[in-house]
Amino acid sequence: MESWTEYKNNYLKNRTPEELELIEKAFNFSRDVHRDQKRLSGAPYFSHPLAISKNIISLNFDAKTIAAAILHDTIEDAKTPLKKIKKMFGEEVAFLVDGVTKVNAIKYKGLERTVESIKKMFLAVAEDLRVVILKIFDRLDNMETLYIHSPEKQKRIALETLDIYASIADRLGMGDVKAKLEDLAFRYVYPREYNWLLSQVREKIQEREAYLKNIVPILKEELSKEKIQVVDISYRAKHYYSLWRKLLRSDMDFSRIYDLAACRIIVKDIEDCYAVLGIIHKLWKPLPGRIKDYIALPKPNGYQSIHTTVFCSGKKITEFQIRTLEMHREAEDGITSHWIWSEAGKPKDKKIRLDKFAWVEQLKNWQKEFGGKKDLSNSEFLESLKIDFFKNRIFVLTPKGDVIDLPEDATPIDFAYAIHSEIGDSANGAKVNGVLRPLSCNLSSGDIVEILIKKDKKPNREWLNFVKTQNAKSRVRHYFKLPFREESSQSFSKRQKIILKVKDRIGLLKDVSSVFARLKINIQDLKGAASSDKCSEIIIFFTPKDISQLNQLKLKLKDIKGVEEVRMTE
Ligand code: MN
Repeated sequence: MESWTEYKNNYLKNRTPEELELIEKAFNFSRDVHRDQKRLSGAPYFSHPLAISKNIISLNFDAKTIAAAILHDTIEDAKTPLKKIKKMFGEEVAFLVDGVTKVNAIKYKGLERTVESIKKMFLAVAEDLRVVILKIFDRLDNMETLYIHSPEKQKRIALETLDIYASIADRLGMGDVKAKLEDLAFRYVYPREYNWLLSQVREKIQEREAYLKNIVPILKEELSKEKIQVVDISYRAKHYYSLWRKLLRSDMDFSRIYDLAACRIIVKDIEDCYAVLGIIHKLWKPLPGRIKDYIALPKPNGYQSIHTTVFCSGKKITEFQIRTLEMHREAEDGITSHWIWSEAGKPKDKKIRLDKFAWVEQLKNWQKEFGGKKDLSNSEFLESLKIDFFKNRIFVLTPKGDVIDLPEDATPIDFAYAIHSEIGDSANGAKVNGVLRPLSCNLSSGDIVEILIKKDKKPNREWLNFVKTQNAKSRVRHYFKLPFREESSQSFSKRQKIILKVKDRIGLLKDVSSVFARLKINIQDLKGAASSDKCSEIIIFFTPKDISQLNQLKLKLKDIKGVEEVRMTE
């Protein structure tokens, strides 16, 4: 196991003394709490968080994210209280570590219909893209040692990796990690297909690589004659999983796959990309219809390059990919490639033009696709990396890790009916994150909810006062044989929140609540907070019958002596 000094000298050359102090503290703390733990492979446990931190460092993340990487398993696997992390390392590090811990509770068992829910939940629970990125690298490291687990576990983890993690990495444009995750998962999810592919392709790829090894010098010479400055020329075999997918689309016909191993040329600017294309076509005749200009027309995930396939020396059909260094980094590292991450997780250099980055567009599309209605400008979007596309939905877990997608402020009763009508009908209590809570309490994303049922227990009519889902409402109404009311769009079935700015005085609260009582509006929750010396705020939650009732209420509240301001929020 490497020492702090070795780690620092190898990976943390350009860090400030303050950054080093934080990272060293995390290093020592994590090493100590994991001291007696081993991975199944027998390696010291601490090697795992260190491996993840090295990935995070190589992407130029800030010190807090590095510290969080080192500490990411201290809560779950070493039973350190979150409070302690907060006290020792501050709010932000604790927030990131807590985020990783919460995401760990999400389990995916390979049901097609839940893939999208799980992805949404993953993002909603993570709350911050840095947590998502930490989890992606956590999973990558765990995949490397998956061989040690039982076949059932291998299959479950690998399927989750393929359907959830690789897909999220792809959305973030992290092509390199995505390909690694897919190839690591492939052998466990489709072992027969993997072995078949390997037996078919190993020699073919070796042969192609040997061939390309001879092509590179020819091309290099030609490019230098034409005074093209080359950043890098390399060749690389296609990843197994993407090759297999491509074979599926091409009737398993290897002769139709030209990029088994392709040659990649990286140059300094776009002009040179087109110049290189011309030089290649002068050397070797292109296959008609195989020139793809993804620079002029990027792929939907933002990928940019020029691809061309030519009859190369010896009439061998060969694919070339031409791109700039910036395009290359973006294709490999996506979202993580663009800036040095500052302390607050925001881009340090605000002047960089963010709109030209494909992943920004991509995330915005993703947000739209997942039902977010807001259309944010780039700057607003990047103000923070907080993931808030799912403002109106929460994702709650069953004790077994199944995800239940509910509206904001849903209660354990909504949850119970979402699982099964019988569980709803006989709900007698609820444990939220292991603690008994009222059946009317509001749940939040990531909560693990267990419904305690009692045989022969009947639904309670009072539930209608707080349930949020149409499903729960109609079940309870059905039970009491109440007429089924479909809420019209005019009515306000939605819970509202009103904020009063008040100069406090004796009797004020009584006056406020009597306005609600006279209008026959039930107050569901009321909170007070001091906002300054003279003023304080009263926050009231309630569900008005309709808009006219709401307007009446606002007018009456404004008339109360001591109420300075009446504000509605959603
Ligand atoms: Mn871990």
